[in-house]
Amino acid sequence: MPVATPGILWKAPGMLLDPSGPLRVRWGYLPRIAPWLLRFISASRARRVEEISIALAALHDGSVEAFEPLLEMAGAGDMLRRTGWVCVYESEAGFQGAAPMLELQRRRGVRFEVLAPEELRQLEPALAPIFPRAVFYPQVAHVVDNFRLIQVLAEAFQQRGGRLLREEARGFDLGAAGPRAVLTDHGRRPCESVVVAAGAWSKPLSAQLGSRPPLDTERGYHLHLPAPGVLPRLPVYSSERAFVCTPLETGLRLAGTVELGGLNAPPDWRRAEVLARHARRWLPGLEAGGATRWMGFRPSMPDSLPVISASPRHANAFFAFGHGHCGLGLGAKTGRLVADLVAGRAPRLDMAPYRIDRF
Ligand SMILES: Cc1cc2nc3c(=O)[nH]c(=O)nc-3n(C[C@H](O)[C@H](O)[C@H](O)COP(=O)(O)OP(=O)(O)OC[C@H]3O[C@@H](n4cnc5c(N)ncnc54)[C@H](O)[C@@H]3O)c2cc1C
Repeated sequence: MPVATPGILWKAPGMLLDPSGPLRVRWGYLPRIAPWLLRFISASRARRVEEISIALAALHDGSVEAFEPLLEMAGAGDMLRRTGWVCVYESEAGFQGAAPMLELQRRRGVRFEVLAPEELRQLEPALAPIFPRAVFYPQVAHVVDNFRLIQVLAEAFQQRGGRLLREEARGFDLGAAGPRAVLTDHGRRPCESVVVAAGAWSKPLSAQLGSRPPLDTERGYHLHLPAPGVLPRLPVYSSERAFVCTPLETGLRLAGTVELGGLNAPPDWRRAEVLARHARRWLPGLEAGGATRWMGFRPSMPDSLPVISASPRHANAFFAFGHGHCGLGLGAKTGRLVADLVAGRAPRLDMAPYRIDRF
């Protein structure tokens, strides 16, 4: 689903008034993010939402399957769980409000099943009986530990001859045919091709290659409960509260919310703590002892579509960032598409919606 949907302009002010609500703007950052917000609002027009959802669906198609060969190679096939996930609604009005979103999902071929309270109880007995409606999405998969996932993939990469350098890329040595080297805090790294994939920090590097995408960040928070006492069988999501409880091999992860505040403002941990309050109501007996908290920077484009693109200026420069809320899920598929672009193969997907110069 695109993040900007019709009506967001009218819903957002109410949400913004609540500092612990699902969406917050740091007022001091408002002037800087205003151009991004205008584009975000423009992307919420009904016709654009339709187009964006088509481009998102094309990208998500086969995104779970794209992980399989990687996980197999890394000997970590057990990390992927295909349990589906369930979206719960705390009120009938909340569910009715989601009707246009469900219709859009139906048009895009997303499979789902609307559940009555008793069906939800059978699917997920750990949940309190407080949800008049729920929607089950059988096609969704999750990983049991996203940090371990990255570690095993990095290890497999190195075992096959890849090299990981922990250095900060600061710029490029540009020749007539494009970047010849990456300039890092450790020196000059000669290169044949460059892929800028620095998440929310990709903007200055892109600018040095002549591209200025309207990238910003949607900051998000998580609270990790190592011994929750009660663990749902599958991820449980609330679109009303914009967060998800995911059972991991290391405990229960409560993650979500959106804060527009840029890359430099300190975290507002109230936003993480409030997740425990909601989760306690959902999951009776939940223990939050030993909880750890985290804030991350979603790299977000105003139209909810990532940049997966060749450089319009340099034949050997490429971009892969801006995946917003879906960068983990789309990681493997994006890797494949970028590999095609770098190798000069035509991807089996119309790449126009993800071009860096689409704005
Ligand atoms: C609370 C929260 C929950 C989320 N939940 C989900 C989820 O359930 N599913 C999902 O799919 N996505 C989820 N996301 C989104 C997901 O985390 C992002 O979309 C994803 O991490 C983006 O991947 P990336 O590799 O583009 O950027 P990042 O993961 O941010 O990685 C970019 C990397 O580039 C490095 N870097 C930056 N600048 C430089 C430089 N100059 N030189 C060298 N290295 C540099 C950074 O250190 C970083 O390691 C969530 C995000 C948050 C905050």
